[in-house]
Amino acid sequence: MSANLTPRAKFATTLLRTAAALSRATGRGDGSVIGGRVGLIVEPRLLELLAEGRHVVLISGTNGKTTTTRFTTAAIEAIGKVATNSFGANMPTGHTTALAKAPKAEYAALECDEHYLGQLLDAASPKVVALLNLSRDQLDRAMEVTALAAKWRQTLQTSAGQSTIVANADDPLIVWAASVCQRVVWVAAGQSWTADSAICPNCGAHLDRFGEFWRCTNCGLNRPSPQWSVAQEGEAVVGPDGRRYELNLQLPGRVNRANAATALAIASLFGVDPGQAAPRLSEVASVAGRYAKVEREGRQLRLLLAKNPAGWLESFDMIEPNPPVVLSLNAREVDGFDTSWIYDVDFTSLAGRKVVVTGDRRTDLAVRLEVDGVDFIVVDDIRAAIAAVPPGPVEVVANYTAFQDIRAEFNRVN
Ligand SMILES: [Zn+2]
Repeated sequence: MSANLTPRAKFATTLLRTAAALSRATGRGDGSVIGGRVGLIVEPRLLELLAEGRHVVLISGTNGKTTTTRFTTAAIEAIGKVATNSFGANMPTGHTTALAKAPKAEYAALECDEHYLGQLLDAASPKVVALLNLSRDQLDRAMEVTALAAKWRQTLQTSAGQSTIVANADDPLIVWAASVCQRVVWVAAGQSWTADSAICPNCGAHLDRFGEFWRCTNCGLNRPSPQWSVAQEGEAVVGPDGRRYELNLQLPGRVNRANAATALAIASLFGVDPGQAAPRLSEVASVAGRYAKVEREGRQLRLLLAKNPAGWLESFDMIEPNPPVVLSLNAREVDGFDTSWIYDVDFTSLAGRKVVVTGDRRTDLAVRLEVDGVDFIVVDDIRAAIAAVPPGPVEVVANYTAFQDIRAEFNRVN
């Protein structure tokens, strides 16, 4: 792919790789961000030049984008090499690095931060754009989710002419944003968090819901018929022709089966046979430490990341019914300092099991559980949490920096 690069772009790519390697060598992460920054200073069009001639998919949304990108990469690798930002560096610097590191990859699967979708549409001319869901996130407090959906809608209208959109039919905000596009493949990817879409994003009227169907009582915006869905019975995805594709995922929960459905829908647009792609998804065991299983003193911990209200609800759906649960909550800058959102999450499903609470804001979490009638014990840190539960499986749910702290305790497990 890089055969057609200008001398300036080649020079920028070399500097990018050097900067990234230096950053890694000095222990400052994987170097994606700094490398991309250096490359883009030398050649501001570097992302565009590196993307040229490749088949690109962009994957965006509040939750599930890292996992869906991993699934998509595994699926498309059935037919060729895939460049991907697998460390979650999901802004243009990270995308530039991902492409620079894989000059021979014909395909690219790029996880994209919600706020950079427009910029990436222009720079990468994607063949496919996958839109997963939009819900409130601590990082997005400055911009409410409906405003973000409106921005997407406008961006898609002006910049997505050549792209096929793969979109979640169960999320009214996504449907509204994507409905301006010519070619949309709808996936019934589910919506565990409906609080941000009680009213119609198009006209502000009340949305009616009957089972999985939803419809605006005023303007008629409604759930499109999905071509892809998660099977009601067993672990499988059902394709457009009604054919079942069995899954054998290592990653838990309905949410990940929905991420798999989206990945298969994307892969089939790239010409991959979904029957060939589906078994490849079972190779994904963990994603940047998420879902990783670690062992300490006879306890087998599974690590689940839950960054926002929708993520907490989804994690409760993923955990096994019996093992003790460790909940860890921080409120540092990237988490958002305000923890009041925990009152939007229903914790009652944890009642009756052993719950251990930790993290910087364990007291906030303890009060919340008290309100929901869930018994718990409070401990200082993850080590104390491990000591507080009997040997055997343990589910650990943590928000962003709490998760990174736990991951560090286990030597940055991937
Ligand atoms: Zn409406």
